[in-house]
Amino acid sequence: MAAPEPPIYLDNLASTPLAPQVLEAMMPWFIEHYANPHSLTHEPGRRAHKIVEKARAEIASAVHADPRSLIFTSGATEANNIALRGVAAAASRERRRILVSRIEHKSVLETAHSLRDSQFRIATIKVGKDGLVDLDALYKMLNEQTLLVSVMAVNNETGMIQPVSEIAEVCRSRGVLFHADCAQALGKIPLNVEAVSADLISLSSHKAYGPKGIGALYIRRRPRVPIKAILSGGSQEHGLRPGTLPVPLCVGFGAACRLVSENIEQDQKRITRLTNKLYHGILRIYPEAKLNGHPVLRVGGALNIFFPGAYANDLMRAFDGLAASSGSACTVTSFKPSHVLKAMGLTDTQADCSLRFGIGRYTTEQEISQALEIMTFGLESLGLGNARMVG
Ligand code: PMP
Repeated sequence: MAAPEPPIYLDNLASTPLAPQVLEAMMPWFIEHYANPHSLTHEPGRRAHKIVEKARAEIASAVHADPRSLIFTSGATEANNIALRGVAAAASRERRRILVSRIEHKSVLETAHSLRDSQFRIATIKVGKDGLVDLDALYKMLNEQTLLVSVMAVNNETGMIQPVSEIAEVCRSRGVLFHADCAQALGKIPLNVEAVSADLISLSSHKAYGPKGIGALYIRRRPRVPIKAILSGGSQEHGLRPGTLPVPLCVGFGAACRLVSENIEQDQKRITRLTNKLYHGILRIYPEAKLNGHPVLRVGGALNIFFPGAYANDLMRAFDGLAASSGSACTVTSFKPSHVLKAMGLTDTQADCSLRFGIGRYTTEQEISQALEIMTFGLESLGLGNARMVG
């Protein structure tokens, strides 16, 4: 069987393709309008400033936020760093404890652990076998020394939706700040920063059909979050994130958010249908396969599947012409079993035999059928599967 070229892209949790309308909106800002958006002494600068503020308003509107509460960053990694380090830098002597869930993205986990050097105590919140944060454990861990809790809204390896509104409310009642990494939530679940009373929210453009290299951090204005800049420089972004803003990327992120607001319902319906088709197809060709995580509390578009008896790396080689992944793109060079799957109780081997599929806005029905064909042949070549049962 000839592998399709380009391969069928089922890795939309790692990154999504740029929406054509987004590229179109960005183009003039690469070429004709090159002025610095912070140069307000002349017309080209003011024009660039205006378009950046329009983009900020579009992003704010997608999450029901006041535009003044959003600062641009280079992505969710930087937003997570500013959230944790910035709050730590402004912390009192009394509150020196930070809680993070065990399934956070490395940009939260590694940042939190590095704060140990600045006399912070870091504790990790366990998750159940279903991939959901253990709320009882979390609430028992809160005390007078707790400064901040960080729990992601949607996990990037399993697609599990975490109860962030509930966690935010409990944190608020205990005087603890709450940060939600919403990199994977934007475009997949409706986000309303007023409904989720989080103090800090991280966003990333390239997970929602916008360009790579741009994201945002929402910082609640009322009650005001005590936070300090982690970089030194100019006074851009309320002094919290110095540096010249990349106008085309801001415009692209804004356009991507506009599309999210317009399309989220139809997108999610279609994506969920295709995800179910892929999942049931996999079960037909490999009945021993198991879905990692909660069967229902998940976003459409995410499938993390344990293939007993087959290592993910061998599967990826056998599934020639299919672009899926054996874990988070940010950890592939570490060659360690997924920390997310291990936190859910999978053994090293079970985690190493799991594959992640990400279905997106531009995935077609035909691609899912083709992907199942590739997997049928691939499993057969490994002496596995139930090839003859495929419909
Ligand atoms: N958090 C989560 C949950 C993610 O999935 C990612 C991207 N893998 C990030 C943070 C980092 O985002 P970015 O690539 O924008 O830095």
